[in-house]
Amino acid sequence: MGIRASTTRVRSILTRTSGYLSDVCSHSLQPYRGCSFGNSLCGVACYVQHNALLTRGEAWGSFVEARINAAEIYHEQHAREARWARRERGAFEIFFSSSTDPFLPHEATYGVSGQLLDAMLAEPPDTLIVQTHGDGVLRERERLAALAGRCSLRVQISIESDLDAMPGLPPPSCNVDRRFRAAEILHGDGVGVVITVSPLLPIEDPKRFFERIGRVADACVIDHYIGGDGSKGGARTRRTGLPAAMEALLPGSSELAYREEIVPIARAAMPGRVGVSRAGFAGRYEA
Ligand code: SF4
Repeated sequence: MGIRASTTRVRSILTRTSGYLSDVCSHSLQPYRGCSFGNSLCGVACYVQHNALLTRGEAWGSFVEARINAAEIYHEQHAREARWARRERGAFEIFFSSSTDPFLPHEATYGVSGQLLDAMLAEPPDTLIVQTHGDGVLRERERLAALAGRCSLRVQISIESDLDAMPGLPPPSCNVDRRFRAAEILHGDGVGVVITVSPLLPIEDPKRFFERIGRVADACVIDHYIGGDGSKGGARTRRTGLPAAMEALLPGSSELAYREEIVPIARAAMPGRVGVSRAGFAGRYEA
């Protein structure tokens, strides 16, 4: 599928959270509208594709709109939004990003996320959660290492399984080994790293997988599409090809009971460093 790239100027960039994310942080921040990873494995069940305000009728994965004045607007909004967040919630916490990936290939052209990280270096939030599905985040090693000294920073890298292929579905935009390597490098830089196993997909060797995560990350978060996709009983995801592919690989994995089977294995491999669902995304890990 071809990807239509365009630019826009926005009037607001810091969005006060609601729903699932409101338990996690005070604000979300999207450098792009749309996501070119929408054509890869994670895009199959990506909940953002159901947001008509955001897709405006275009197919998910077919467009990317760069918000080229995002850094300028961040500076304009920072003082007011930080004041509101600290008064109402006790901390100014940004999730970067929940409806796109900050390090899409288009970032090499537009640089919006890099400019935003510079803006945050000048005027940091209290907490910054960087969420990505790829290893393009490594282009920002220096800025992230600097930010780790200015705020509470965690880089969350999604690695949903130890498998790169799901039957009948497109491959991931970045393979499992490359994402592990990105985690290892950032961790070595002294940046807080969390692996988000979300949505949880069939794992071939769970013990080995979580031991590997334990060596390259501070923590991990496990979230099943049931309870994690923002719809009752995972109804949105059930309308996609993901559950059938999960069942073909591992019968029972499309049910929530699979998460309950995996969590104890993860906790045995990473005691005190495993979070589940929303609490995990909020940084609460249990033994
Ligand atoms: S990277 Fe995130 S926003 Fe983009 S398609 Fe994948 S899950 Fe959706």
